Amino acid sequence: MTGMSTNPSFSDLTTIGVGGAIRSFIEPHTRAELLDAVRSTDEAGRRLCVIGGGSNMLVGDDAFDGVVIRDARRDITLLDADTGTAAVGMPAHDEAPGDVLIRAQAGCHWDDFVRASISAGCQGVEGLSGIPGTVGASVVQNIGAYGQEVSASVDSVEVWDRAGACVGTLGTREMGFGYRMSALKRSMLQTDVPDVEQPGASRFSPTPRYVVISVTFRLHRGGEGVLGYDQLARALHAQVGDRMPVGDIRSAVLAVRAAKGMLEDAHRYERPFMRGCVDERGLREALRAQSEQSDVGAGPVTDRHSCGSFFMNPMLTPQAARALPEDAPRFDAGSDTGDKTIKTSAAWLIDHAGFHRGFVVRPGAKAALSSRHTLALTNLGGARAHDVVELAQAVQRGVHRAFGVCLTPEPVVVGLPLH
Ligand SMILES: Cc1cc2nc3c(=O)[nH]c(=O)nc-3n(C[C@H](O)[C@H](O)[C@H](O)COP(=O)(O)OP(=O)(O)OC[C@H]3O[C@@H](n4cnc5c(N)ncnc54)[C@H](O)[C@@H]3O)c2cc1C
Repeated sequence: MTGMSTNPSFSDLTTIGVGGAIRSFIEPHTRAELLDAVRSTDEAGRRLCVIGGGSNMLVGDDAFDGVVIRDARRDITLLDADTGTAAVGMPAHDEAPGDVLIRAQAGCHWDDFVRASISAGCQGVEGLSGIPGTVGASVVQNIGAYGQEVSASVDSVEVWDRAGACVGTLGTREMGFGYRMSALKRSMLQTDVPDVEQPGASRFSPTPRYVVISVTFRLHRGGEGVLGYDQLARALHAQVGDRMPVGDIRSAVLAVRAAKGMLEDAHRYERPFMRGCVDERGLREALRAQSEQSDVGAGPVTDRHSCGSFFMNPMLTPQAARALPEDAPRFDAGSDTGDKTIKTSAAWLIDHAGFHRGFVVRPGAKAALSSRHTLALTNLGGARAHDVVELAQAVQRGVHRAFGVCLTPEPVVVGLPLH
């Protein structure tokens, strides 16, 4: 349980810094405490929100009359690739190529895990360096960046199934990964298991049917990764497909992210309720890098007070994609159902619908588009959730008017009229 006398509010726990009071806050330090907290909340019929780093949540200003659980377990364990049991020591860098299994507890800070896996001489998640949040949430929306998605490195996910009230293990097939999607996220969107308090919403929202307990990753032994993204290749003066040391890829990713305001504000971990959520060494490095970046004009720190990319890249039918202007980006996104799907760029649509960096709905508004790119909605200081919603809806309306495309928010939206 938390040792604090008062509860945090969602504005204390989320990267965008908005959201109302929390009635009950539990911070389990053991697996048994975690399972007990989730089970008893469900048995009592109370609303449940398992929160990680709060980097993909936009929560309303009203008090949340349920239980918020933040897993305080953050261990990372190297497993024996043959037996799946804990192994002693980390692999030596000069060992033969092969797979390495590493298990991380759900509450582990995502970037602490990336750093640890690179220090252990493993390749597979370096392109996902600097994404805020936790290991548990990384598989909920299948985080992705710079040509990598976490799904490619997941071996299995240990979960608590809230429907069956039991522990289970989900392999990659059961996880049903897609673009920013998984079986866990789908359970939050399923309205055939409705919420009694919020008609039209899933019973498993804002927290999925499966609560992640730990994730086992299958990484590759070896100090080099492949550059899978043009922008990254350019930053490293190389070509897409070239092999580079994973440490260099991580440094380039962090530099590109910093320049776009797509890293979280490291100072948040110095505040009450956030202290201790990251590894101390990692925090010192992040604070140092952040102060160096501000010296070279990496934009105002408020660019980092966001939920990252606020809108998903729309998936369109070929017919809808044909209706877009000729120069709109189009990527073949395959299809689960047999019908072809074309992905376009939310950022391109926003830019070409007339929105500019730093856009505000009116002078003096407290929420703005990032000064670095138009896909992030930021809190300029003192914004409330309704300020962010007003901005998001203005962007949705503008894009719909210009291109007939509905933009869908990427963050998990709680208690707000935003879809
Ligand atoms: C500056 C910035 C940059 C970003 N860049 C990227 C990017 O490049 N690519 C990308 O994909 N995302 C990006 N994001 C989004 C975000 O970082 C990811 O979605 C991240 O995985 C969220 O993790 P979290 O722990 O903060 O989740 P939260 O925001 O705390 O929670 C999100 C959802 O996951 C659920 N959840 C949390 N923990 C668990 C658990 N243990 N079991 C089950 N459900 C759980 C919550 O209930 C909620 O529904 C960015 C965000 C920011 C602020």
